[in-house]
This record gives sequence, structure tokens and C-alpha cells, in this order.
Amino acid sequence: MSRRPPRNLAALFDELNRSHFAGRLGGYVVRRSPITPASIEPFISGPPEVHRLATTFPQSRQIVIAGVLNVRPVVERRVLLHEMCHVAAEDEALFRGEHHGPEWRSEMYRLAREHGEAWAADEAKRYES
Ligand SMILES: [Zn+2]
Repeated sequence: MSRRPPRNLAALFDELNRSHFAGRLGGYVVRRSPITPASIEPFISGPPEVHRLATTFPQSRQIVIAGVLNVRPVVERRVLLHEMCHVAAEDEALFRGEHHGPEWRSEMYRLAREHGEAWAADEAKRYES
């Protein structure tokens, strides 16, 4: 992880899709939401839980990342990988409304195991019941 991740979210999605998911995720539009009070609110009112920083909409095949000021590229990259694990989990689970179920967690553990993303295992553990 010596290279800075690109700030263009579509390019970052493509890069991570190739490097971390063998190119098997496709057909998603990734964008930043406008910077609004609602998108900044999680940072002001409480601990910035990653899942509040982005949402995946499987029906419209979109990932929307909160457009917040000064979010570090490394954080935005992790937020995107978290969402991409929802897509990879083929979310089934998203449609059932179980956002961080076993399929999603196993994708996160895979990123830790096979791609050196140790933070992903820590994050998945927080969702173990
Ligand atoms: Zn999530």
C-alpha cells in the first residue's frame, strides 16, 4: 500500500475489482454524495462508523459514498472495499436487510487473509454476534 489510491471513485473501484475480487464485480456506478449536513452529521454526532459513510443500492447497482470534507484517501478506500464486499457477497443479504451477515464477513476475512487488509478482519469481527 505504498501507492496513494486514486481519488476518482470509478477508477478506484476498477482497480480494486481487479486486484481484490478477480474482476468479478461489475456494473456498479460509484459516486460521492453531495456534501450536505446529512452526510457530515455522522462525524459530528457520534463515532464515525464506516457503514454510515456509504450505502450500496443493489437494485439500482450504485455505491454512494458520503461526500465529507477532508476524508483521507486511505479511509475512503476502506469504505469502498467494505461496500464492495457487500456486492461480492452477492447480496442476497442486502435484499434480506441483513447488512453484515456471514457472506459479507467471509469476504472481509478473505481480504485480510489474501490481500493483507488486516483492518477488514477487525471490522468484520465487530459484526460477529
Ligand atoms: Zn456495510
